[in-house]
Amino acid sequence: LEFEDFALKRDLLKGIHAAGFEKPSPVQEETIPTALMGRDILARAKNGTGKTAAFLIPTLERIEPNNQKTQALILVPTRELALQTSQVCKTLGQYLGINVMVTTGGTGLKDDIIRLNETVHVIVGTPGRIADLARKEVVKLDECTTFVMDEADKLLSPEFTPTIEQLLGFHPKERQVMLFSATFPHVVKHFKDKHMDNPYEINL
Ligand code: AMP
Repeated sequence: LEFEDFALKRDLLKGIHAAGFEKPSPVQEETIPTALMGRDILARAKNGTGKTAAFLIPTLERIEPNNQKTQALILVPTRELALQTSQVCKTLGQYLGINVMVTTGGTGLKDDIIRLNETVHVIVGTPGRIADLARKEVVKLDECTTFVMDEADKLLSPEFTPTIEQLLGFHPKERQVMLFSATFPHVVKHFKDKHMDNPYEINL
């Protein structure tokens, strides 16, 4: 299988090749076609499998650059992973005319507010800061139809879970949820039952 077989925008294929990817990894082969149809995804995938591009490629394919609203939210548990993920997103999306913003607790709130006066199609970050911005209505998620959680087993801690559920409440009802996790503890199963719609389950 080749990336060309997924019927992606040419400019997204260019970004994939710019990232140096030649063939889809197994988790990408499993995830991309189903995610492109809009179905929820629940994937058990460790670091190093190519999971980041597995959720970023369908996410980027579905972004409308001419719509100036935020269309995808990607939650990760740490600042380091947020920076890494946004970097991959910028590389893959570099020819699409899409703006990507990273926001975590470690940066100035004022800078985020200024940044959010401009178009931000994709937000990558940790839950606390994003929820803070959403409560202040600086981040508007009413057209944000893609919701991704990476390292969900770490995200769904007692500390983060209420914040994540609050964030989901800002999204439209018709949204796609993609959840990636190395392990499937009870909290992940509970989240799936409560917030996901017949997800396609991937176990590699
Ligand atoms: P991840 O599991 O997302 O952390 O990715 C692990 C590493 O694999 C990263 O360095 C990616 O750049 C790389 N990678 C992801 N997808 C592919 C691919 N299809 N072909 C080659 N390398 C890839």
